[in-house]
Amino acid sequence: VTNLAEAIAAWQDLLGYEQVLIDREILQAVQTATFQTTQSVPVIIRPKCLTEVQNCLRIANQYRVAIYPISAGKNWGYGSRVPVHDKCAVMDLSRMNRILDLNEDLAYVTLEPGVTFAQLCDFLQKQGSNLIVSMTGSTPYSSIIGNTVERGVGKGPYGDRFNYICGLEVVLPTGECVHTGFGRFNNAAGVETSRWGVGPYLDGLFTQSNLGIVTKMTLWLMPRPKYFQYYIYYLNDDTRLDQLLDAVRGLRLAGFQRGPALIHNIYRQMALIRPYPWQEAADQRPLSLELLLKLKENWKWGGLWNGQGALFSANREHGAAERAIITNALADKVDRLVFLNEDSHPNNPLLTKNTFLGHAVLGSVKSIYWRKPTLPENDFLSLDPDRDACGVIWLSPAIPFEAKHIRTALMIMTKIMVQYGFEPNLGINCISERSVDITGLIIYDRTITGEDDRALRCHDEALTKLATAGYLPYRLGIQSMNSLPPPIDDYGKLLSRLKRALDPNDVLAPGRYDFRADWPQEDG
Ligand SMILES: Cc1cc2nc3c(=O)[nH]c(=O)nc-3n(C[C@H](O)[C@H](O)[C@H](O)COP(=O)(O)OP(=O)(O)OC[C@H]3O[C@@H](n4cnc5c(N)ncnc54)[C@H](O)[C@@H]3O)c2cc1C
Repeated sequence: VTNLAEAIAAWQDLLGYEQVLIDREILQAVQTATFQTTQSVPVIIRPKCLTEVQNCLRIANQYRVAIYPISAGKNWGYGSRVPVHDKCAVMDLSRMNRILDLNEDLAYVTLEPGVTFAQLCDFLQKQGSNLIVSMTGSTPYSSIIGNTVERGVGKGPYGDRFNYICGLEVVLPTGECVHTGFGRFNNAAGVETSRWGVGPYLDGLFTQSNLGIVTKMTLWLMPRPKYFQYYIYYLNDDTRLDQLLDAVRGLRLAGFQRGPALIHNIYRQMALIRPYPWQEAADQRPLSLELLLKLKENWKWGGLWNGQGALFSANREHGAAERAIITNALADKVDRLVFLNEDSHPNNPLLTKNTFLGHAVLGSVKSIYWRKPTLPENDFLSLDPDRDACGVIWLSPAIPFEAKHIRTALMIMTKIMVQYGFEPNLGINCISERSVDITGLIIYDRTITGEDDRALRCHDEALTKLATAGYLPYRLGIQSMNSLPPPIDDYGKLLSRLKRALDPNDVLAPGRYDFRADWPQEDG
C-alpha cells in the first residue's frame, strides 16, 4: 500500500528538510508543461550523490511511492518535468552537477546528470581545452545526461548523441548500482573509451526507458577543427526539394557532411526571426502561405527551404577542397549558397558564436514564443516556456532518407497542422546517412481557451496518421507513451518481463517508454 506521508518523512530524514520540497507553488510549477497535463506531483526530492539516490529508491520501494527522475527538467515540448503517471515524486538530480574527469588526449569528459551544456562549455573554456561539445538546439541550460537518455540530437559530427557516450553508472529501481561497459571491473582501463565492454551491451536499456537512473556518464568530445566553415543555403522552388535531399544524402554517405544537416521550412525560419505578424495578419490564425511569402519579400535571406551545415577541416587547403565538394553537390540545387569562414567573414556572429563550434547560444528557444503577444528578454535564463504558458508540442517521426518518404511525411504533417489551425513549422534533421528526423513544432498560446485541447488533438491525429503510413516517432512526449500501434511480435511481453524483474514494485517512472498497454495481463 502506498504510504506517501511515511515516504516523505523518510526522505526528509535522509536528505534534510530543505531538499524535500512540498511547497504548493513549487509543486505547481513542476506539474506544468508546455501542453495540458493532469498529473499531480506530491513532492520533489533532491539527492546530491549516488548513495542518496540509492537510498531514495529503497525508501520508494519500502513505501511504494513511485519516483520520476529529471536532470535539468527542460524536456520542453515532450512533457517538461511532468511524470508520465499521476502522483510520482519527482527526483530532481540538478544538485549532482560535478564534472568528474576531463581527458584532453582521449577527448572525453565524465559528468553527472545535473551538468548542463552551458556549464560544460564554460568549464572547457576555463580549462583552455581544445575540445568542443555537440551543442543542443534547445536551451544550453538543459542537461547533457537528460538529453542523452532521451536519445536527443545535437549539432555537428557528434550530434547523434547516444553514439558518443560510454560507461554509464546506473541505479536500478531496487537501489542497486551497475556500471556498463568495463565499469564493473576493479581498476579497469577503458571504462571511458570502450563502448561495448565485454558481454551484452546494456547502455540502450537505460535510454528511453524506466529501468534505471543514470548518475554518471562519459561523453566523447570533438577536437576543435583547425579550420571551420559554416554554410547556409535556401531554396524557393518546392519542386526541387527532392533533388536537394538526394544531394545531401549523397554528401552524408560519402562522408563529406559530417553530422546532422538541417533543412527547415519557411514557417520555422519566420518563427526564428520574429514573432507572429499579428498586425499584418489582422489577428487571423494560422498564418497563410500567401501572406508569409509577401512578408518574405522584405527578408535579406531565406526561402521556402533553408539549410545549414558546417565543415570541420584540418587546414585552409583542406577547407577549400571540402568547400568545392559541397559547392559542386549543392550549388545548382538551391537558389543561394554562402560559406562563412574566418577569411571571408572574420567577425560574423554566425562564426564567432556558433553552436556547431560548441558555443552556448540562445538557439531556437525564443521561437516557441511565436504565438505569444510579447517576447521575453534576450537572455537564456529568463526563458521559461512552462511558466510563460507557451504551447509547444513536438512531432518527431524518423524517416528513411529518401525524398518519397520525406515528402509523404511532410504532407501528412502539413495537412493536419493547417487543418487544426497551426502553422506547419517543420524541419528535416538529416541525422544519419540513412535516416532523417522530421521535427514538427505545434506552437500556440496556452492562455487562449480551447487551444490546449486543439493542439493535443492535432498532435494525436498526426501521430496516428504518420504511424499508419509507417513513420514512427524517434521519441515520445509523456502524453503519448501508449499511442503507438500494438507490436506484431512479443515486444510487449519482453518489456513487461524486464520491467517486472528489475522493478518489482513499479517505483521507477511508471509508464515512461514501457508501452504497458501492450503488456500481457499475467505474464506466465
Ligand atoms: C525550441 C526547442 C528546441 C529544441 N531543440 C532540441 C534539440 O536540438 N535536440 C534535442 O534533443 N532536443 C531539443 N529540444 C527538446 C528538449 O528541450 C531537449 O531535448 C532537452 O535537452 C531535454 O531536457 P533536459 O536535457 O533538461 O532533460 P530532462 O528534462 O532532465 O530529462 C528528460 C527526461 O529523461 C528522463 N531522465 C532525465 N534524467 C534522467 C536520469 N539521470 N536517469 C534516467 N532518466 C532520466 C526523464 O524521464 C526526463 O523527463 C528542443 C526543445 C525546444 C522547445
